[in-house]
Amino acid sequence: MRTEDIFRRANEEIADLALRHGWRFPVPFLCECADSHCFARLELTLEVYEGVRSNRQRYLTAPGHEIPEAVAIDQTGTFALAEKV
Ligand SMILES: [Zn+2]
Repeated sequence: MRTEDIFRRANEEIADLALRHGWRFPVPFLCECADSHCFARLELTLEVYEGVRSNRQRYLTAPGHEIPEAVAIDQTGTFALAEKV
């Protein structure tokens, strides 16, 4: 399994936990870039996270972090999205 997919799976577990506890504040998610030593945290509300996750080709990363074979499609300032094509 690729690094970005391992981080994505971890984030899905974080989101699941946040959902079960009804957290309304921003949740600290992990950067889903390809660097297994990256420990960047991205604070997103569950609502924003679910929006990102609705597209399975998309990964959540810190701005400027990269994933091979993925192109940066959005950068809001606090986080970026990379999409595998
Ligand atoms: Zn990263």
